[in-house]
This record gives sequence, C-alpha cells and structure tokens, in this order.
Amino acid sequence: ETISVGELANRMAVRQGEVIKTLMKMGVMATAAQSIDADTAELVVNEFGHRVKRVSDSDVELGLENITDREEDLKPRSPVVTVMGHVDHGKTSLLDALRTTTVTDAEAGGITQHIGAYQVSMPSSDRKVTFIDTPGHEAFTAMRARGASVTDIVVLVVAADDGVMPQTIEAIKHAKAANVPMIVAINKIDKTGANPDRVRNELLNHEVVVESMGGDTQEVEVSARQREGLDELLEGISLQAEILDLKANPNRPAQGAVVESRLDRGRGSVATVLVQKGTLKRGDIVVAGAHWGRVRALLDDRGRQIQKAGPSVPVEVLGMTGVPDAGSLFVVVENENRAREISEFRQRKIREKATAMQVAARGTLDQMLARIQAGEQKEVALLIKADVQGSSEALAATVEKLSHEEVAVRVLSTSVGQITESDVQLAKASNAVIVAFNVRATTQARGLAQRDGVDIRYYSIIYQVADDVEKLVKGKIAPKH
Ligand code: GDP
Repeated sequence: ETISVGELANRMAVRQGEVIKTLMKMGVMATAAQSIDADTAELVVNEFGHRVKRVSDSDVELGLENITDREEDLKPRSPVVTVMGHVDHGKTSLLDALRTTTVTDAEAGGITQHIGAYQVSMPSSDRKVTFIDTPGHEAFTAMRARGASVTDIVVLVVAADDGVMPQTIEAIKHAKAANVPMIVAINKIDKTGANPDRVRNELLNHEVVVESMGGDTQEVEVSARQREGLDELLEGISLQAEILDLKANPNRPAQGAVVESRLDRGRGSVATVLVQKGTLKRGDIVVAGAHWGRVRALLDDRGRQIQKAGPSVPVEVLGMTGVPDAGSLFVVVENENRAREISEFRQRKIREKATAMQVAARGTLDQMLARIQAGEQKEVALLIKADVQGSSEALAATVEKLSHEEVAVRVLSTSVGQITESDVQLAKASNAVIVAFNVRATTQARGLAQRDGVDIRYYSIIYQVADDVEKLVKGKIAPKH
C-alpha cells in the first residue's frame, strides 16, 4: 500500500513542499513524485492534525489469519524440528537416519520420496516428531523473513571431530534470534579423534551451556552413520516439546506455511505445506501467498493419498493455480470468489511493492520507527558487529539499558568482524538494524542489504550509537546522514 507524496498533499489540501518538509523531519527524503508506504503516510497525516481512515490490507484480509482459538479447543500437537549446523557435520545424514528409524523394511521402499518435511514416531509412544527436511539456516531464515515461524526446536549438529565452526555459530545466532530452543547433537562419535567434550567446551564461548556442564541446553551424543543415539535424540526432542507445551486447535479451517513447492510435469503445482492450525481437507479452497486453488489431492510424506491433515502434519497439496514461495502462509477460505479476491489483491500489492522499492530504498530504522509508532513493533532489534570483542559487549550493555517499558531494546547478537551476507539475512528476518562499529560490510553483504532494504549503520563512537537508539526508543529519530 503506497501513495505518492503529491497525491497525499492533494488529499490533505496542503502544499507539496509542506509534506516534503514534514517527511524530512521524520528522516525520509522524498520528492513529490515518489511514493511512501501507508505507515509513513499515516504519520504525516497525523502531523497535519488529520485523522486517517485506512482502506487497506485489512479490508480484504481481515479475519484470515487472526481467528484466535479458545483455550479449551487446543489439543497437543507434534513438535516441528529444523536441523542446523556446519557443512559436512552430518545434517543430511542425521535427517536420513532419523527418517528411517521407525520404518519397517517393508515400508522402506516407499519412503524414498522427499517432500520437504516428514514425520517420525517416537520409539516409546505413539507421539510424533515433524522434521523439516531442508537442513541449514538459509531455509530457516528465508521462512522467517516471509513471516512463517514453523520451527519449534532446532537440533544443532556439531561433529565431534571438528568442533564448533563458523556455520555452527551462525546457526546458534539464528536460533537465538528466533527464540527457538536448541538441542545439541554431537555427531560422528564413532570416528577416531572424536572429542565430544571439546564440543561442549567450545559451545561455552557462544553462551550455549549444555546440561552436563550445568546449563539448560540438552545435548545428545549420536552417530548418524552407525545409527547410534537416535532414540535418545528423539526422547530429548519429546522432552523439550513437553516443556514447550505445544498445542493447536485441529477443529477449524486450516492455516500454516508452505515448506517447499515446485511445478511437476504430470501433476502441475505441487506444494508441501505444514499445517499449523486446523485441519486441511481434500476439496478445501486454499490461498497461499498470491496463489490459490482447490485441494485436488493430499499426499503424506510417504506418497500415500490422505483425506485430511491436522496440526504439525506435513502434506503435499495438489491443485494450486501457481507455485507459492517457500515460507508463504496459507489459509483455507470459504469460497472461490474470496480466494480469487485475496490472491488478486496480493498480486497487486506485490507489483506495488516492487515499484515502491525501486523508488526509495529507505532505511529500516525509519520503518522500525513507523512500526513502533503504529504499535506493531514493541522492540528495537539490533545486530551488533564490532572490531573487537570488548566494544561489541560494551555496546550491547549500553543499548540494552535504554530499554523502555513499552519499547524494548533487543540485541540479537554481538560479534566481531566484517558484516557478511549471513548478518544481513539475520537482520532482515528479525526486522533488525545492523550496527557496524569500526567495521565495514563485504561487497556482497552491501549488495544484499541494498536489495532487501536492510539498514547498516556505521559508527565509531559509542555514544552516537546510544543517541540513535535512544531516539528510536523515544519515537524520534534524526534524519539519516
Ligand atoms: P551435511 O553437510 O551437514 O549435511 O553433512 P552430510 O550429512 O552430508 O555428511 C558429511 C559427511 O560426513 C558424509 O561423508 C557423511 O557420510 C559423514 N558422516 C555423517 N555423519 C557421520 C557419522 O556419524 N560418522 C561418520 N564417521 N561419518 C559421518
């Protein structure tokens, strides 16, 4: 939803120059021909003492994802697990091993197909665990960036012969930023040279304290290759799930997230979705992102036709009109007209957004301010990178003190070194601003930040960081220089 500065001035019957000046005071540089988003426009309108009646997203989308459930309607659901860790530490091997733990030989032939997620039964009960079958934090981050938070628990795989490596650290940051609990799987314990205790110690440097060292992060020693420790890992997941008390209402129209999708030559659009609430049935009308369709068939993770899928159940959906992006949210709506209306609305919004992005690459600091003022965001999220450990810690301590009862300052991570693409992805997924203290960004990171509209702010004096953050917390921010 955007409006040009000129048009906004027109509707308020004020001069364009006045609007441009007001925008400048808010830190937004725009000419009359440029477009601004609805949040910013609303702020401007308020500045002029007008009230806005928003005819926006909500009219078309109202009620779609917002039906809340009554406590008594909630039933326990399976945990959804993502496996992360450094390359070659055994993520894929572990997922493969887990996948076949509870499968009998007779079934084994039918489970070769990969749909992006699968379920495993617990060894000691009839409860299940759902695994996202795309290891690594890229998929996890991409999903979060689209607004889908499907993961309940992260399994962090660390090879016992290699220890904590850069992507291990990144995975820890991503899990922490998403507030998702971790279970450490110390893998390859069958190898000579395996040293699980070294892994435990190295994790301490990254504020991950495992249970055997007095912390509260579960750790399990496994060998994906020898299929050792898998039951223990599943038990650990089950225990963590109990602590999280995961529940959903199965008796309502379904909603959830797209995990994977593709165009199949014979079957058309094939989307793997993870149901998060409600029950998805054959014949349901579904909207996913800007696409819609009537569910022609549902296939489970072993390729079997099923009639319906409840919460935490991954299922392949046939019958969509297009291929929705992984991470798109899907909902069941009452009829085709409604589905068509929503998907057309969203397609229009996508086009408008693309145009608006070209017009002005505005910093997320301003967007954050708009969201805070609109009451949509209650925190200032920061990712701090500095030249030395001491500075990053000092910065984190300083800015966290600036938290206010209504707007919290949240430091997602502090680290040392130049800003990488992974930092930008993390910031984007968490709506965070990157604070660069005496460090620079790599060319790739700068490019990605520009493309995705992530704000990287460069500083060399701590109080200037504190100043900006304080302004943000107080709902006032100086123009970007
Ligand atoms: P990913 O990159 O994290 O998905 O790692 P892979 O699952 O592809 O594993 C990388 C390599 O480590 C492969 O050659 C695996 O066979 C090997 N590997 C994985 N798990 C184990 C294990 O438990 N023990 C041993 N010895 N090798 C393993």
